[in-house]
Amino acid sequence: MKSIKIKLKYLIMGVVIIAFLTTMISNLWSAYRINTDALTYNTLETNEVYAQKLATTANNYIHDTFTTLQFTANYIAARMDDDEILMNEANRLRTQNNMFNSVAIADAEGTVIAVSPPSLEVKGVTLDSVGAQEAIEKKIPLISKPFEAVTGRLVIFISYPIFSSTGDYLGFVGGTIYIKEQNMFYSLLGQHYYDDGSYVFVVDGDGKIIYHKDASRLEDVVMDNPVVKAVTSGKQGSQSVVNSKGIDMLAGYSPISVANWGVIVQRPTEAALAPAGELVKRLASIAFPFVLVAFIIVLWLAVRIAKPLQQMATLTEQSMETRNVDELKDVSEWYFETYQLKSVLVTSLSMLHGQVSFFQKESTTDPLTGLTNRRTMDRYLKKWTEESNPYALLIIDLDHFKSINDTYGHSVGDEVLKYLAAKMKEYARAEDICCRYGGEEFIMLLPNTNAEQAFEIAEALRQDLMATISPCGRAVTMSGGIAEYPKNGSLPAQIIEEADQSLYKAKQAGRNQVQIASVYRK
Ligand code: GH3
Ligand code: MG
Ligand code: MG
Repeated sequence: MKSIKIKLKYLIMGVVIIAFLTTMISNLWSAYRINTDALTYNTLETNEVYAQKLATTANNYIHDTFTTLQFTANYIAARMDDDEILMNEANRLRTQNNMFNSVAIADAEGTVIAVSPPSLEVKGVTLDSVGAQEAIEKKIPLISKPFEAVTGRLVIFISYPIFSSTGDYLGFVGGTIYIKEQNMFYSLLGQHYYDDGSYVFVVDGDGKIIYHKDASRLEDVVMDNPVVKAVTSGKQGSQSVVNSKGIDMLAGYSPISVANWGVIVQRPTEAALAPAGELVKRLASIAFPFVLVAFIIVLWLAVRIAKPLQQMATLTEQSMETRNVDELKDVSEWYFETYQLKSVLVTSLSMLHGQVSFFQKESTTDPLTGLTNRRTMDRYLKKWTEESNPYALLIIDLDHFKSINDTYGHSVGDEVLKYLAAKMKEYARAEDICCRYGGEEFIMLLPNTNAEQAFEIAEALRQDLMATISPCGRAVTMSGGIAEYPKNGSLPAQIIEEADQSLYKAKQAGRNQVQIASVYRK
């Protein structure tokens, strides 16, 4: 089976397209990768620094709050029975900074003796909440876990113990943060979120969310999150994580050590890396016109490179036609290989054509005399017979040629044969064909000629020979026999035979004469 061969032009184009595409894609891909790596690194770094900053702020804030609570505790220790002072202190604590949603002062049993705002109406109520119980039990500064307060709200309770000057435990002063309402986290962290899905959240020591911009996430325990795990164990850092909604995030985190809480700042990876995609698009659009121009130039070159080779291929395919050598000379040779190929082709094709015509001549002529050989003569006869083309055939034989050979030598004999051949050509007309039929026997084919016309030519030749000195130093004579197609036969062999018979008769009749075959013989 013949395999399909791709044309050079398409091959070059294909190679160029592949080269262009791989270069473009690898360039854009590496630009994208370098950019995403940088963006990832920067985002993680930024988020960590930001988480640290928020944690430090919150830490300082809570620390200051304890200092304020401590101041109040010291101040009211000696005034625990003065309702007005207690009330003023509670109000001052609640409104002075925005730390607390409410403030309460309780005695050693946990019974509220002052509250702000008063609208809460818990004065006289004994607090049995986790936060209050813990404060009474431990008698130390405390930040509670989130719990449900008597008011039914989810709160965090920050308290400070009150001791008398003699060291007796008198109760505690504390503030609540309403987790699900506007609170100190909002003023600290609330303004810090972007519209690209970035957000900040705070967890307590158990991994429970105590601040999140999405209120429905509050109280969720997210200890499974590796970032939460790290921050609740007091570590600061950054890493990429998958959040609870399955979205890839770049997270920075830092602990709020005073409260054993943690701040986490997250940005969706997709949003963080979006500029890389934009960069690639911009690179591609900037490069596109250049690539297009380069591509067109290369395509044009491909056609130009392929064209001379293609022409040469076509011309060599039909290499037997001589005119191709001339056409080949017109093929462009603008680069070295075409120049080389072309000169080799021109040389070898010229040589081939020379060889072919040489062998053609060689195979059709007799080497000694240069006359048409017998095989070719047979071909003419066959053709003319097939075409019923009339002709006369003259057979010539030198008289006593043996004696010329014997007397002057074989090579002189050869010279005499060449001499006769030249004489025959002299008397033959353009369309007549002179052949060497055998050793010293010759035939002249005379197309569209009758025996009488042939006789005239033969006679002229015979008389010329008789009157001319041959290469052996004297004149030689010939005898001839003539037959005519179709008069003397329908086949070439018959015509030759008839002519030969006439020649025989001429020899018998004394040589140096020409005889015509009789039509009615046989
Ligand atoms: P005739 O008059 O009867 O023709 O007598 P002849 O001597 O010519 O006899 P014939 O035609 O039979 O002679 C043929 C001779 O021609 C024999 C051979 O030596 C000679 N001869 C044949 N071919 C060549 C050749 O190529 N060169 C030479 N020099 N002689 C040849
Ligand atoms: Mg003979
Ligand atoms: Mg002879």
